[in-house]
Amino acid sequence: MPSNVPITVAFGDGIGPEIMNACLHIMRGAGARIEAETIEIGEKVYLRGINAGIEPSAWESLRRTKVFFKAPITTPQGGGFKSLNVTTRKTLGLYANVRPCVSYYPFVDTKHPGMDVVIVRENEEDLYAGIEHRQTDEVYQCLKLISRPGSEKIVRYAFEYARRNNRKKVTCFTKDNIMKFTDGLFHKVFDEIGAEYPEFEKEHWIVDIGAAKLADTPEAFDVVVMPNLYGDILSDVAAQIAGSVGLAGSANIGDQCAMFEAIHGSAPRRAGQNLANPSGLLHGGLLMLVHIGQADVAEVVHNAWLKTIEDGIHTYDIYKEGTSKQKVGTKEFAEAVVARLGQKPGTLKAASYSKAPKQTVAQTYTPKPRANKQLIGVDVFFQHNDRDAKAFGKRLEGINGEGLKLTSLSNRGVKVYPEGFDETFCSDHWRAGFMSEQANGPVTHQQIVGLLDRLSQAGFDFIKIENLYTFDGQKGFVASQGE
Ligand code: NAD
Repeated sequence: MPSNVPITVAFGDGIGPEIMNACLHIMRGAGARIEAETIEIGEKVYLRGINAGIEPSAWESLRRTKVFFKAPITTPQGGGFKSLNVTTRKTLGLYANVRPCVSYYPFVDTKHPGMDVVIVRENEEDLYAGIEHRQTDEVYQCLKLISRPGSEKIVRYAFEYARRNNRKKVTCFTKDNIMKFTDGLFHKVFDEIGAEYPEFEKEHWIVDIGAAKLADTPEAFDVVVMPNLYGDILSDVAAQIAGSVGLAGSANIGDQCAMFEAIHGSAPRRAGQNLANPSGLLHGGLLMLVHIGQADVAEVVHNAWLKTIEDGIHTYDIYKEGTSKQKVGTKEFAEAVVARLGQKPGTLKAASYSKAPKQTVAQTYTPKPRANKQLIGVDVFFQHNDRDAKAFGKRLEGINGEGLKLTSLSNRGVKVYPEGFDETFCSDHWRAGFMSEQANGPVTHQQIVGLLDRLSQAGFDFIKIENLYTFDGQKGFVASQGE
């Protein structure tokens, strides 16, 4: 008899304890070989003054078991609290968020009976780096960081997932028509890595029209990979249109650790009333069972769950007069699943885990040879409250010298000097590009320090700089709109 696998379990807040108890009851009933270690996370921990929402001692359990089964938590209102999910994902390097969104028509109401989409969301980068600054009275900034290793890992994960799960198509969503460098890199990496997987149909959609198509015709998609923010938004949309956010689970996978959860929150208004649907967390639990090598148990649980849904035994959130047979509470739903262990659905497609898909993907990142990087200028950002672009441009030209000259002045990304338009609205946040007096000539750090010194002496309120480089002769910056 193989020994039990230690897993770290958090019961969370709100409906969390009820649905976690229901899931563990079902999984144990099916013979899951697990040894649960409990840690405390969430509201109580936050309110004890721990801003990350997790006791420092809890990390010890997580680092040892490397498997986290997590019920939803409540993030207290008010400032200062860090998102526990973001912290956990980043601390444990859980770079891939996998969310299968499947419809259970005709037993759960949906406009998309044939839907079976898996969203693979990048989990660590993009606007979620949490690097935000207020720079002027009027302007706030959030840095969007997309890296080549981060993009390669998630895109490869998506293709490997597709291969292991016998999927046919992998789609990528980005907004690279606007964000040419960040989303452009993600798209480029998708094309590069996709070439290593010739068996798949591959396509790229601009995220706006792609999202519209996903909401309208989800049957047209199979595996969809995207950067963090789009994935966050669209995986909820996909789960909701499949039937309910209450049904979907997700896996957060890293090289060493993994976290499994429901996609919904702690539904505090439903807490303690034996009302909540444990299915979303149970689906997270199925992904976990596969991850720890107990696909046999996952298959039994999954089929019993499908049979329960098919038999019309539904919690309030999916209960519908006519389709459903019996409205039950959390505990009764769990008992109904336990009673069906060993059974298979009659109409819905039975789950088969015979070729158990592994969840982790061994990856080695090979850095590209370093490019020849040349400093050729600097963008200096200012707070400047007089909105007269021409006057400001002329004043800045007075700072030219030591081989550097002003080449353009822009406001919120639009060129306003020289030859700007009076119609362009200007905020108090300006960007001035200074380059070498010789076209594309090299610039030194010393020249930039000298420039900043002259700006400071002349009383300009500069707020940050961004160096302008070429990489192997290619510009590493995007020109202003209108330039
Ligand atoms: P929510 O997902 O908790 O609830 C949204 C709606 O769905 C509510 O009407 C709720 O009653 C219903 N619902 C959700 N899960 C259900 C279930 N299992 N069964 C039946 N009905 C269910 O979202 P919210 O109300 O925006 O957030 C509540 C709290 O949860 C907040 O503190 C939020 O920060 C937190 N949250 C946590 C996580 C997480 O821990 N992963 C995720 C999202 C939100």
